[in-house]
Amino acid sequence: MDCDALLCKCRAACCGPVPMPANFYRAHRAKAVREPIFELSDGQGNVYAAAEGGSCIFLGEDCRCVIYATRPPICRRYGDESHLFLTCPYQDKDGRVRFRAERKRIWRKQRPAVEKTLRELGDAARKHHTASQTGE
Ligand code: SF4
Ligand code: SF4
Repeated sequence: MDCDALLCKCRAACCGPVPMPANFYRAHRAKAVREPIFELSDGQGNVYAAAEGGSCIFLGEDCRCVIYATRPPICRRYGDESHLFLTCPYQDKDGRVRFRAERKRIWRKQRPAVEKTLRELGDAARKHHTASQTGE
C-alpha cells in the first residue's frame, strides 16, 4: 500500500496496539520512540503495547513507522481486507482512495470492535499494574 499521500489525513490510524510476536517485540523494544503505557502478553506468544493516546510505540511523530523495514507480520498484512481489523478505511487493497461515505461506513463497523479491544487491554493493564503493586 502506498500511504504517503494519505498520512496527513489518516495520521496512521492503523498503528495502535497490534499483536507482536514476543521474540520480535524483545528484539525491537529498544527502538521504540514512544514510552509504553502498557505492555501486555496475551499468553499466546504475543505482546500488545501502546503509548499515550493508543498509538504504537514504534510510530514516529511524522506518522511513520521507525521499524518499517522489519515491521511485524500483522503490519505487513494490514490492508489486505481479509478481516475487518485488516481493512484500511482510507484506501482499498488496490490502493484506490475511498470515498468519504465508504470510509465512514468502515469506521462505523470497526469502531465498536476497536474500542472493545482497547477497553479490554486497558482493563488488563490496570489489573496487571495493581497485581504488581500488591505483589500478587
Ligand atoms: S494503511 Fe490506511 S490508515 Fe494506515 S497509514 Fe496507510 S492509509 Fe493510513
Ligand atoms: S510496528 Fe510500525 S507499522 Fe506496525 S503498528 Fe507499529 S508503527 Fe505501525
